[in-house]
Amino acid sequence: RAKEQGRNSYQFYTEGMQEREVMRLQLDKDLSQALANNELSLYYQPQLNLETGAIDSVEALIRWHHPRRGLVPPAEFIPLAEESGRIRDIGRWVIQAACNQLAQWRGTPCEHLRIAINLSGRELENEDLVDDLRQSLLNAGIAPNRLEVELTEESYIRNIEHNHNQLARIHDLGIHLAIDDFGVGYSSLGYLRDFPVDVLKIDRSFITDVPQRHESGIITRAVISLAHNLGIRVIAEGVETEEQLAFLKRYRCHLAQGYLISRPMPAAELERALAAGLLVTGPEDGGL
Ligand code: C2E
Ligand code: MG
Ligand code: MG
Ligand code: MG
Repeated sequence: RAKEQGRNSYQFYTEGMQEREVMRLQLDKDLSQALANNELSLYYQPQLNLETGAIDSVEALIRWHHPRRGLVPPAEFIPLAEESGRIRDIGRWVIQAACNQLAQWRGTPCEHLRIAINLSGRELENEDLVDDLRQSLLNAGIAPNRLEVELTEESYIRNIEHNHNQLARIHDLGIHLAIDDFGVGYSSLGYLRDFPVDVLKIDRSFITDVPQRHESGIITRAVISLAHNLGIRVIAEGVETEEQLAFLKRYRCHLAQGYLISRPMPAAELERALAAGLLVTGPEDGGL
């Protein structure tokens, strides 16, 4: 009886897996159309400068407007694209879209903004990456220091020698490098010594329970002070409450990003918000 049950649950499990696999294949097929059909877009989430109260930079977050399924979050299709190799085309599209956006912002209230894009490990392995970045900046007539590249620690751990070289070349172009989700995953302080890092992004999981949870507060303060001592910028991700913001200000975190300040939004919306001054005085005044 127990054996039978075991077998049944096994079958149930494999059927579920097959179904998922079919859905994944379908989604990947759809993804190949997405670029051609203009279904991808970048949303921008403001990063609040806590020293000046201004928005100097935004993070570009990819969105897929699927014709039947609606908005598909990146967590659902980026890992898939990494597996299939389609991430290369997507990455190239993201780089171009960000550079073109910077060019389009000339003469608008957004013209001072820097854009941070996300790159995954597979993209870092791509030999053409540095050329793609250089060429896109050149075509759009954009200075490299207007662009920032966010990498998760997992992305450069795999092929450390090669990736170190790539990161050095990107940095030499004048593009800023940020470590995303700092403190989780394979975080190693050795990277801060060996890689030309410009920005640390404290992972949301620490910010979420600041200041309630003592340990998270201690870790957050330690990372902020680490960044200060290294002479690099530090950003808190996932800031959702006034208490968190006050804590970050008290310990002199440079920048804050999260729903309290603003959700990610399309470029046109960001332009309207900045033009109306909605994002320049900081969240105390009831910012978005
Ligand atoms: P990430 O780079 O760590 O981006 C931060 C994520 O947290 C975003 O989710 C953002 O919408 C969300 N977020 C921002 N503020 C808050 C907050 O206050 N509370 C909460 N709960 N969430 C907040 P999103 O846009 O779904 O992106 C998820 C991940 O997908 C990103 O994590 C990044 O790793 C990846 N990703 C996004 N765009 C791209 C891209 O263009 N290329 C690549 N390779 N990966 C991307
Ligand atoms: Mg990021
Ligand atoms: Mg992050
Ligand atoms: Mg993340």
